[in-house]
Amino acid sequence: MSDALLSPKHLEIQKKARDFAREYIMPVAKELDATGEYPWDIWKRIVDMGWGCMIAPVEYGGPGLDAVSVGLVTEEFAYACLGVMTAIGSNNLSSYPVLLGGQKELQEKYFKDLLAGKIAAFALTEPGAGCDAAACTTTAEKVGDEYILNGTKCFCTGGGVADYLIIFAVTDPDDRKNKLSCFLVEADRPGVTVGSVEDKLGVRASNTTEIILKDVKIPAMNLLGNEGDGFKMAMKTLDKARPNVAAQAIGGAQRALDEAIEYVKNRIDANGRPLAKNQIVQFKLADMGMKLEGARQLVRHCQVLKDLEIPYTMTAAMAKALSTDVCVEVACDAVEIMGYYGYSKDSIVEKVMRDAKIQQIYEGTNEVQRIVISGQMLRS
Ligand SMILES: Cc1cc2nc3c(=O)[nH]c(=O)nc-3n(C[C@H](O)[C@H](O)[C@H](O)COP(=O)(O)OP(=O)(O)OC[C@H]3O[C@@H](n4cnc5c(N)ncnc54)[C@H](O)[C@@H]3O)c2cc1C
Repeated sequence: MSDALLSPKHLEIQKKARDFAREYIMPVAKELDATGEYPWDIWKRIVDMGWGCMIAPVEYGGPGLDAVSVGLVTEEFAYACLGVMTAIGSNNLSSYPVLLGGQKELQEKYFKDLLAGKIAAFALTEPGAGCDAAACTTTAEKVGDEYILNGTKCFCTGGGVADYLIIFAVTDPDDRKNKLSCFLVEADRPGVTVGSVEDKLGVRASNTTEIILKDVKIPAMNLLGNEGDGFKMAMKTLDKARPNVAAQAIGGAQRALDEAIEYVKNRIDANGRPLAKNQIVQFKLADMGMKLEGARQLVRHCQVLKDLEIPYTMTAAMAKALSTDVCVEVACDAVEIMGYYGYSKDSIVEKVMRDAKIQQIYEGTNEVQRIVISGQMLRS
């Protein structure tokens, strides 16, 4: 679906997000990248707009944005800064398990808090459990009407600023298939501490930390879904989140392409002509544009399938892998076309190139996406 096919409602949301991103995110993106500070000012403004949690249901006072709208906002914010979008995206990612398995009372409080500016973080990864999520060793033991959690999570986006943590922990080590369960943990509970803060190559405006859980007691009602549902909940969550990561990659790639186009119009080559008159440069731009537009169509198609509740697991995996691969390729090509300036910290494309890489790794690596895609193709 190209912009020309967007409904008036979607075009309005796109414009609102674009205006906001150009005014408040773009001007500070480089500074946030340099300092690695969390984008608190931007976050407060987003909360004021009512987008503190884009997927919070209307019945809980949220905007209840559909997948196409979330994608459009994500594209625009990511165009301005992939780091800021990664930071604020944690509220969407973390909310899927709450929607999937939270009791009504818990959902009400959680979404009210997020819409008022609280932050949630999704903690699945552990030092010994990345792609193999089932290898988690964090434990949750049921004692009376409480669970007691122990373990260490790592590379948790928003871990150091979060008010709520979505924790995946082992409840039955003997049940290989159903050993994990999913919990909502308030970050101010005794025994929750933030460990090392990661110093990263890119998406530096997002905070990434270890989370250490030592004898953390939570009420049984904080269990999301049933005991043993954890692995399925994690996979369903990542399914739902993939169209958003994919949209983010489209935003980043579009930024790199726009910067490259602007540059070649003004940069003069050895023949005294703008670089844009050089056919090799023209063909490179055309290739970048073709890849980006193809990926965008797949991503938007996937969002529509999601909104129509048509199964989209394979399409989401394709959209995530393709768009994030394209984002890395287009960002690298932009740096190349822009020569020393592209490689310099004075340009924005060097930042897009650094930021782009993580999208191929988090929320399921692109190798894992290829396992999902080929698995579905070879089924039956
Ligand atoms: C900036 C950042 C933010 C993050 N945010 C979060 C977050 O909010 N929450 C969270 O839970 N995690 C988060 N992560 C962790 C991220 O999801 C993991 O890094 C990712 O799942 C991969 O796990 P791993 O790094 O342990 O890689 P590994 O599992 O060790 O894999 C290493 C490489 O081997 C490949 N590989 C592994 N298994 C296979 C296989 N069976 N077949 C083919 N190839 C394979 C992988 O694709 C990868 O290329 C974040 C990471 C970063 C860097």
